[in-house]
Amino acid sequence: MSSRKITIAIDGFSSCGKSTLAKAIAKELDYIFIDTGAMYRSVALYCLRNNLVHNNEINTLEIIDVLPKIDIHFDKNQISGKLEVQLNKEFVEPFIRTMEVSQLVSKIAAIKEVRAKLVEEQQKMGIKGGVVMDGRDIGSVVFPNAELKLFITASPEIRTERRYLELYQTNNTVSKEDIRKNLEERDHLDSTREESPLIQAEDAILLDNSNYTQEEQLQVALELVKKAGGI
Ligand code: C5P
Repeated sequence: MSSRKITIAIDGFSSCGKSTLAKAIAKELDYIFIDTGAMYRSVALYCLRNNLVHNNEINTLEIIDVLPKIDIHFDKNQISGKLEVQLNKEFVEPFIRTMEVSQLVSKIAAIKEVRAKLVEEQQKMGIKGGVVMDGRDIGSVVFPNAELKLFITASPEIRTERRYLELYQTNNTVSKEDIRKNLEERDHLDSTREESPLIQAEDAILLDNSNYTQEEQLQVALELVKKAGGI
C-alpha cells in the first residue's frame, strides 16, 4: 500500500494516555496533533471565569447564550513552539488542567450546542488529512471515515497513577482519591450522555495499554498506521 497522509482517530476513557500516544504518532509522522479535550476544557474555563458556574452547577441556557462569544482555535505558541489551544486568542494550556476545570468539563461537554460548535471546528482542522485527533467521539462522530481508529483503555489504577504523576508537578495538594473519583465521574458522564456518548466505534481497534511503556505503545500504533496505509 502506498503511503499518504491519513486521518487517525484516537478515543477512549479519561487519562488513558490518548494524548501522549497521539502526540508521539504526530511527531513520528509529521502529522498535526489535535487534543479535542483541550477545546472542551477551554469552554469550561470560560464559564468559570465568567461566573457561569454556581456550586459546580451550570445553567445550560446561559451557556448556549454566550457560545457566540467563545472562540476556540489552535495556534503555534512561540514560547513552547507547539500548536496549542487558544480561548479568545489567549493561550490557556496552563489553566485548563486544574481539578476545578476537570470537575466541570464533562457537564459542559454534554451540551449539544457546545459539541456542534467544537465538532465543526475539528472537522475543518482535519479536512486535509495528516491529522491525529484524540477525544471521545472522534471515530464515531467527528471522522466516521477515518482510515485508522484506535480505542484506548487502561486499568483504573494505572490511569489514576498516571494522572496523579502529571498533576503532582503543578499541584501537590491533589490526592489520588480525588483523581480517581474525578476519572470515574467523567467516564460515567461521558459514556451515558445523550449527545455523542463515548463509545468504541464498530471499526475501532481496542488497545489496552496498561502493560505497555509509551515506546511499546507507539510501536504497536505505528504498525497499525502502516497497515492502514499511512506510512
Ligand atoms: O481528553 P480530556 O480528558 O482532557 O477531556 C476532558 C473532557 O472533555 C472529557 O472528560 C469529556 O467530557 C470531554 N470531551 C468530549 N469529547 C471529546 C473530547 C473531550 O466530550 N472529543
